Amino acid sequence: AAGRLAGKTILITGASAGIGEATAIEYASAAKGELKLILTARRLEKLDSVKSKLEAEFPNIKVLTVKLDVSDLSAIEKFFKELPEEFSDVDVLINNAGLARGVAKVGEISQDDIDSMFNTNVRGNIAMVQHLLPLFKKKNSGDIVQLGSVAGREPYPGGSIYCATKHALRAFTSALRKELINTKIRIIEIQPGNVETEFSDVRFYGDKDAAKKVYQGTEPLYADDIAELIVFYTSRKQNTVVAESLVFATNQA
Ligand code: NDP
Repeated sequence: AAGRLAGKTILITGASAGIGEATAIEYASAAKGELKLILTARRLEKLDSVKSKLEAEFPNIKVLTVKLDVSDLSAIEKFFKELPEEFSDVDVLINNAGLARGVAKVGEISQDDIDSMFNTNVRGNIAMVQHLLPLFKKKNSGDIVQLGSVAGREPYPGGSIYCATKHALRAFTSALRKELINTKIRIIEIQPGNVETEFSDVRFYGDKDAAKKVYQGTEPLYADDIAELIVFYTSRKQNTVVAESLVFATNQA
């Protein structure tokens, strides 16, 4: 099945860390480097270090790194306009960039945090889809993988805004899948539980001790566990789509 990935062009948002970075590595190794990767995020130096590692291991791989803040809609427009010809025929979008900021009750959440979560997790995600859909419709093919969350199914106190963004994403994704029902475009939403990444560092504003506590006493998922599923789902035969999957660590309630 990994052979189905050969020659494909995969575009990943938030590829500088965590699930996005692990997904880039997983695609490269599944296709033995016979594919093109477009890696985007705000930290270009991190993307370039992923690119160097992949190029050292896979001589045929083609990797393009681009600094892209998905919360900036004009930057997304510019990104698609300036995509080099060699990388413009995108086959798979891993719509992964996302974040949570803070654990706070309603009334105690800063407007900056609210904007940052909605602009990244919802508006940025939607804008990526809006820009790619004309190409996918023209080809009548393409996969869009949405990084939802268990937070998009089960709201919890202290996480109202993050949960609201992931609920919004789930609604958008489900409507999108229904709109595309008579096409060969696949819409796949993965909803992880706790995954040990930089996610908690970002959520707790860089407080590593608070971040670590999230994973204490349980074995969480790791970024490569989700990456493996992404590669597996997108390398099924075209007639099969894993529309939604809720993925927990074995011991997560
Ligand atoms: P990380 O914090 O490890 O990685 C997040 C990635 O998103 C980074 O590469 C970061 O790069 C990028 N990013 C954040 N904001 C922006 C932005 N405005 N523009 C572009 N890139 C951005 O977290 P995860 O890998 O864990 O998270 C990936 C996705 O998975 C997110 O959508 C998250 O909501 C979801 N998820 C995570 C869970 C978890 O427990 N970890 C559970 C369920 C879902 P940079 O800072 O360089 O821009």
